Amino acid sequence: PLVLGIETSCDETGVGIVRGHTLLADAVASSVDEHARFGGVVPEVASRAHLEAMVPTIQRALEQAGVKASDLDGIAVTSGPGLAGALLVGVAAAKAYAYALGKPLYGVNHLASHICVDQLEHGALPEPTMALLVSGGHSSLLLAPDITSDVRPLGATIDDAAGEAFDKVARLLGLGFPGGPAIDRHAREGDPTAIGFPRGLTGPRDPVYDFSFSGLKTAVARWVEARKRAGEPVPVADVSASFQEAVVDVLTRKAVRACRDNGVDHLMIGGGVAANSRLRALAEERCAAAGIVLRVPRPKLCTDNGAMVAALGAEMVARNRAPSALDLSADSSLPVTEISVPGPGPG
Ligand code: ATP
Ligand code: MG
Ligand code: FE
Repeated sequence: PLVLGIETSCDETGVGIVRGHTLLADAVASSVDEHARFGGVVPEVASRAHLEAMVPTIQRALEQAGVKASDLDGIAVTSGPGLAGALLVGVAAAKAYAYALGKPLYGVNHLASHICVDQLEHGALPEPTMALLVSGGHSSLLLAPDITSDVRPLGATIDDAAGEAFDKVARLLGLGFPGGPAIDRHAREGDPTAIGFPRGLTGPRDPVYDFSFSGLKTAVARWVEARKRAGEPVPVADVSASFQEAVVDVLTRKAVRACRDNGVDHLMIGGGVAANSRLRALAEERCAAAGIVLRVPRPKLCTDNGAMVAALGAEMVARNRAPSALDLSADSSLPVTEISVPGPGPG
């Protein structure tokens, strides 16, 4: 199926077009530079930027793909979770195009899209798929017997998301926003064993699939403060590398454990933090040692984009899932278990 996907849950206006598992277009307009001076995403600024970028980005995607809107088999859109005002812009646009073109509309879950996007990279997801979802707002281990209808949370962060930890630590190191890519870069020049930062929730009595990153963030803040008080320079590269190592050590350890415990021989890693070079390398190493096949999309497909929404939409069409009603609305706190927002159905 030929599907166009729209993503506006945060600060990226993304429009992607796929045919089944084939990526035809991935147009992204980001308002990240407008937020940088505030040190975080400002919802009102994001909504306004989506509104301005929406139609041009749809046009650009159609041109890139070389397809006509009338040839589409469906329009998919992120209906949640995310910033309410930002989501609304995408949902309104998707409804307008679906109505005007007479195409089915699919309101889908942003988090399931972060997983489903890997079909564009590595083909059909195995069933079940074990997924480590690590992004700006979420960090979870998910077992998905069917990415269009059945996603089961095994564990999740009990405080900060992994991406949030990257952003906060980058901020206290003065590396700007967003922090993940900056820490990734600085860490390449640093020693990951320089400072032994804590590994959250890895004690014998701790929940095996849950994560905690706020203690780590506090430990980094204390360490940096102590250096400054002593009048010594902060070794940004070593702090970045040591912090990053603490995060990815726990993520990969728990993900491999989840695969082993559940008899799953594939691991998918998705979400913005999956773009992290050290996470990708360590996951590769540990999966290889455990006989697990690792699937991680290219970095550009890990961070927010429209292609991931189109990928999930195409899977919905392929599996004859019910489309959404044209009164679809945004749900800023849509749970990961609600993969799509079906319409009232034939009854
Ligand atoms: P969610 O998907 O939970 O709604 P989001 O959509 O805001 O949140 P994503 O775009 O999926 O988040 O991911 C953004 C996050 O990924 C940010 O926290 C950013 O710092 C982090 N990130 C991006 N690239 C890297 C990298 N190379 N290393 C570490 N973190 C990264
Ligand atoms: Mg973003
Ligand atoms: Fe995201």
